[in-house]
Amino acid sequence: MTIGIVGGGPAGAMTAERLLRGTFPLQGDWDGVQVIVFEEKLDWEKPCGGGLSPKALKKYPFLLQAADKANPVRKMEMRAPGGASVCLDLRAPLAIYSRRELNHLLLERSEQAGAQVVNDRITGAMRHGNKWRLRGRAGCYEADYLIIAAGARSSLRNELAGSLNARDFMLTFGYFVPGSEDRLRIEFFEDFEGYAWSFPRRDHLSVGICGKIGHARMSELQQKLLGFMARLGYSSESSPVFSHLLPSLEVDSWARIRLEGDGWALAGDTAGLTDPITGEGLYFALRSGELLAESLLGGASYARSVWNEFGRKLMLGARICPRFYLGNFLGASVTTRMVQFCRRSRTYADLFQDLVEGNQAYYGLHGRVFRNLPKSLMEIATQSLGRRLRPQPAERA
Ligand SMILES: Cc1cc2nc3c(=O)[nH]c(=O)nc-3n(C[C@H](O)[C@H](O)[C@H](O)COP(=O)(O)OP(=O)(O)OC[C@H]3O[C@@H](n4cnc5c(N)ncnc54)[C@H](O)[C@@H]3O)c2cc1C
Repeated sequence: MTIGIVGGGPAGAMTAERLLRGTFPLQGDWDGVQVIVFEEKLDWEKPCGGGLSPKALKKYPFLLQAADKANPVRKMEMRAPGGASVCLDLRAPLAIYSRRELNHLLLERSEQAGAQVVNDRITGAMRHGNKWRLRGRAGCYEADYLIIAAGARSSLRNELAGSLNARDFMLTFGYFVPGSEDRLRIEFFEDFEGYAWSFPRRDHLSVGICGKIGHARMSELQQKLLGFMARLGYSSESSPVFSHLLPSLEVDSWARIRLEGDGWALAGDTAGLTDPITGEGLYFALRSGELLAESLLGGASYARSVWNEFGRKLMLGARICPRFYLGNFLGASVTTRMVQFCRRSRTYADLFQDLVEGNQAYYGLHGRVFRNLPKSLMEIATQSLGRRLRPQPAERA
């Protein structure tokens, strides 16, 4: 039995590792199972922030333990469209990886588990009876089961599961800037479905911007990002530039998403499994790979597990997304209020930290915000009053 996995990113590498380390009862034809990962670029700097959330680190502690490869970050600065900002001391760190390091680590783990990694680009897949015939640039291969984990731009996906719409993606654009910082930075813009970021890795920063296709043009992204960089004193000169697609499925697309069929399955970005609001995809790539492996080893249906565990939460994210970026709350943009509330209300800042840590899902978020609103407003009013009553430096003297 040969399982062919196209793509050795987080989704493909994790699927391979978990298949080979499976603790589930093996079914049927699993004696002599062979897992081949086809990866065209091996350890490459995939365009990405490289930020692994506390939720991902809790689920996969080896990612935090590989401390020499990542930068654990405990400060998060957010800037609202009008210029208000807040810097939060995070209760749990994020780990910021260079994707070269992360992909290397994950592929190495899959090889240690027994996977064969083939450095080739698969250009076509045809079904002949029960077998898949894979056409690569360097050769032809056969597999009994085919997993496409080839990222957001995969054309193989389209042949099996149909294509996604343009509106199911965000455009991204950015630079890898030399330098180091102690905090990650996020900036929101007025009437813009996306954000700019600076994620500090061990020896450089990933600085970029994402914007929903159909809403943002590349020229607008460039202009906004250069403004963000100028304000922070980052130079784009001689910094490697990147651009890539980031899946951000619309509500309708979640309703017709197809994750598996006869002899094949999709995982990670290829399947569209990212958080439509934050763009977080690493956790979902890893987890979808794991759920797929468990399902193939005799566990529950893959599609159902994905849907129950996080698919429906991500679909709710897709519903909330336009309101988050474009909506108003108490007379200002939602992102402006979010920054102001985080700065002045302990209760609201706790809620936000729960969101970052993955302890507060989008389900129940609206209710919690409104239940806590009187308390948050009271904290804001008390803080404002305190500031007004506090003696000014001249008076103190
Ligand atoms: C600019 C940007 C910033 C991001 N920042 C973050 C972040 O900070 N945190 C976060 O959680 N998520 C982030 N994401 C999302 C994250 O990068 C993806 O969700 C994640 O990489 C998905 O993993 P994957 O394995 O599904 O796909 P990929 O990482 O894209 O891996 C697919 C692999 O398949 C290979 N491949 C493709 N086609 C073929 C082929 N035909 N044959 C052989 N090999 C092939 C590619 O070389 C690649 O290595 C970001 C995305 C972008 C675009």
